[in-house]
Amino acid sequence: MHVDNLKKELKEKQYRMTPQREQVLKVFLETNSEHLGAEEVYRYLLNKRTNVSKATVYRTIDLLVELGFLRKLQFDEGVYRYELVDKDSKHSHFICNSCGKIYELKDELSAEKVLHEYILKLEKLGYKIDEVDLKFRGICPKCAKKARGIVR
Ligand SMILES: [Zn+2]
Ligand SMILES: [Zn+2]
Repeated sequence: MHVDNLKKELKEKQYRMTPQREQVLKVFLETNSEHLGAEEVYRYLLNKRTNVSKATVYRTIDLLVELGFLRKLQFDEGVYRYELVDKDSKHSHFICNSCGKIYELKDELSAEKVLHEYILKLEKLGYKIDEVDLKFRGICPKCAKKARGIVR
């Protein structure tokens, strides 16, 4: 995904590509695959001495979600995180209960493929599925190894 694509899409949807929108999107492009909260985006921009208000950052993120550029994720109660929507690299998430790290599980087996039959069943019941978002929680390989080391 590129800023140019965003400009094009915003134009098609008759939104102007404001500097703020470009800045917020760039934060996600620069930090690559990080799952950032709105607060973190705001702090990142502050660190780069970007003159933008917190309210603008929050509003801009909401708009980018609406336009389909960002995906809204919830890993913890009440905390939203965002990532770039990249249709070519769909992935599920694994959240470690010990270190809190968020892993991206990229695999040929997309959630849609694994859950194919279940999705068909739901659609028969009248649910229209746009996207499946799988979330795993547990202990990551690193923490599991550490724990084993201590027990030994
Ligand atoms: Zn861990
Ligand atoms: Zn992710």
